[in-house]
Amino acid sequence: MSKLKLDLIKNSISYFREAVAYAQRDGLDETGWKFAIINVVQAMELAFKEKLRRIHPALIYSSVDERTDTVSLSKALKRLVDPGIGGLVIAEKDPRKIETAVKLRNELTHFECEHEHEHMEAKFADIFSFMIFFYREHLELPAEEFIDYDAHQHIMGLVKARAELRTRAQSYIKAEGFIDIWICSSCDESTFVAQNGECCLCHHKEAVLDCASCGQETLESEVIDTSNFLDWDYNEGSMILMEDFGMEMTACQGCIETFKSKVDEKRQAQYHEDMERDAMAYR
Ligand SMILES: [Zn+2]
Ligand SMILES: [Zn+2]
Repeated sequence: MSKLKLDLIKNSISYFREAVAYAQRDGLDETGWKFAIINVVQAMELAFKEKLRRIHPALIYSSVDERTDTVSLSKALKRLVDPGIGGLVIAEKDPRKIETAVKLRNELTHFECEHEHEHMEAKFADIFSFMIFFYREHLELPAEEFIDYDAHQHIMGLVKARAELRTRAQSYIKAEGFIDIWICSSCDESTFVAQNGECCLCHHKEAVLDCASCGQETLESEVIDTSNFLDWDYNEGSMILMEDFGMEMTACQGCIETFKSKVDEKRQAQYHEDMERDAMAYR
């Protein structure tokens, strides 16, 4: 176990240092940001595993019984914040920010894609600040073990600039008296002004729609196709909707769980009805 311990933390720090080396270059282009993000997310993944290992060595595996594959980043985070396992207290928006960064990392690793330079810089700043906090608070590492003073100052400048922009966006919201402020699907900050359909921090624009299922307003990116939850049948080369249970074909993030349980209830009720009818027919 001692070798594993050394490898996890040592590797995490070397990825982190690599990420920092990219991020502090002047006039960093998209490729540079791409590597900074891939490295910082890798550093986070290893740091999470190290934390889990300290709680119990079996926790670094996806299945604690089989112990073959190691845990994914999302699952590691779930275990860390689970009150019965890690009991880690992190900021309310952190899990979402981490998920977006992981998604971005996967996109960057697996296929060519276009991401704005600002978007990547913002994601990097989010994870960088989170990692500084995580190394210090949860792995009890003194700063000099994972970052050099100059590099820290340089990147903190970037993080502060972003915090500054966020404060400015918030005072703009207050001054204008906007009421419906949502979490932006692009920058993950509470700066999306629903009535304008635009984020006043990153200027991401997105349509605001009425959810077909619950009627609440929702971001277009949060509309979920629900057709898979309904009953379909394959007939002569095409899929035919057999039973829609009187439900809509889309729902929103806010009502999808209710949607699923309603469909389950209706399917159950129908099943019992069918059973009764069949029973009657035999009498
Ligand atoms: Zn935004
Ligand atoms: Zn809804």
